[in-house]
Parts: sequence; C-alpha cells; structure tokens
Amino acid sequence: MSISQPAVLITDLCKSYPVGRRRIEALRDVSLVIEPGEYVSIVGPSGCGKSTLLNIMAGIDSPDSGEIVVNGTALDGLNQNQVAAWRGKSVGIVFQFFQLMPTLSALENIMLPMDLAGNSKNARERAGALLERVGLHGYEDNLPSELSGGEQQRIAVARALANSPSLILADEPTGNLDSANGMAVTEILESLWRDGTTIVMVTHDLDLAERSPRVISMSDGVIVADRRTGAAQIPVTAG
Ligand code: ADP
Repeated sequence: MSISQPAVLITDLCKSYPVGRRRIEALRDVSLVIEPGEYVSIVGPSGCGKSTLLNIMAGIDSPDSGEIVVNGTALDGLNQNQVAAWRGKSVGIVFQFFQLMPTLSALENIMLPMDLAGNSKNARERAGALLERVGLHGYEDNLPSELSGGEQQRIAVARALANSPSLILADEPTGNLDSANGMAVTEILESLWRDGTTIVMVTHDLDLAERSPRVISMSDGVIVADRRTGAAQIPVTAG
C-alpha cells in the first residue's frame, strides 16, 4: 500500500432505485477522491443523493456500477459478511437519529463494536476513555432513554471511535440537535479531524459545512461544485 493512497476513491458511481415501474437515479456517474486527513462536507437539497453516497462509502449500500475503494479496500470485492467485518473495524458512522441500542448502557453501547470486532481486550477501560473524550465521564451506566439528544449523539460519536477508525462518516450528525448541542458534537468531530481522522459529513446546514475546509455540493445525483473554504484557519475552540 502506498503512502499516498486516498481515504476514499470513487469512480463513475451509479445507483438507482426502483420506484413503481421506473427507476430513480440517486447517483449518476459520481467520481470523487478524498485524501487521508481531509474534513469534507457534502451538501445539497433533500433527495440529491447525499445519503446514498455516504451509505455506499460505508458499505451499507452498494452501487449498480462504478468503483469504491476505501483506504485501499475495494468494497465490490467483498461479500456481505466481509463488508460488515471491514466496516466494524475501519469506519465509524454517526447517524442523525443516534441509533444507540436502547437496552444497553452508555458504556455497553461503546463496547459493542469492540466486542463485535473481536477487539475486547481492555474494552471497558477504552470505552470509559472514549466516554471521557466526549465529555460524558460519569454517565457509564445510563441508558440512552435517560440521556438528552445531545448526550446520546456524543455517545454515538464515542461508539463510532470504538475501533479507532481512520474514517468517520457522519450523516446529518447535528440534524436532530439544538444549536448548542449541535456545536458540542461539531467540536468533537473537529477535534478528531485535528488528530488526523478523515471526516466526511453530510449536512443541510450550510454554516456547519463552511467550517470544513472542503465542501462538495450535489444536485440531482451529481457533484455540481467542489470547493475549498479556507476553514482550516478557524481558531481551535477550547473544548
Ligand atoms: P439525500 O440524502 O440528498 O436527501 P438520498 O441519497 O437519501 O438523498 O436519496 C436520493 C434519491 O434516491 C431520492 O430521490 C430518494 O427518494 C431515493 N432513494 C434513496 N433511498 C431509496 C430507497 N431505499 N428506495 C427508493 N428510493 C430511494
């Protein structure tokens, strides 16, 4: 593997969904390269294909045609079990609606991906450290239902970090939070980026997108703009 291997390499990706007797083209010949350590926002109107693109990067969805290679792994060369194993170890995913396991405590939610990946050595201690990283030391035994939306999303970010992925994919991570909690989650993601993690975030919040150094705009299944914002100069906020 070469040092300059992209974090995400997408070539001529097409994806359509059957709707009644016709097909909706969610992605039309999308090509994209994201380098390691980038922080990229993907914006565009509802239905333009943002989540489809992110889900394909995560191996949750597969394309009709085209290539997707993530950190050197060609996803179309893997079967479903291999994709699931790869995803659990290599990618951290944050969803709009948190998607925590309701019957597991905060700590257990963070330990779950470690256990699933067979990475359970010192899992409790490592999960505790991640809880502390997202500012929730002391909440180890709380169930998701006992936590606010902002706290749940911070747990979800800690869970995404469970197996130390080099790539975080976030789909509207602040979309269900008030502005203060949204900013807390944003600052955690930004601190991960400053530590070297590649972040790809789908958002409809243009102010949030402007905080990332690169903004990709989509419309109707294609990339219509890909620009630098200069946001790397944003001062580091105390956290
Ligand atoms: P965005 O994230 O930008 O809102 P999506 O990627 O969710 O857009 O959707 C792109 C298009 O594909 C939309 O027209 C949507 O209705 C359609 N689509 C997405 N997922 C499915 C699905 N599972 N079945 C049918 N159509 C879908």
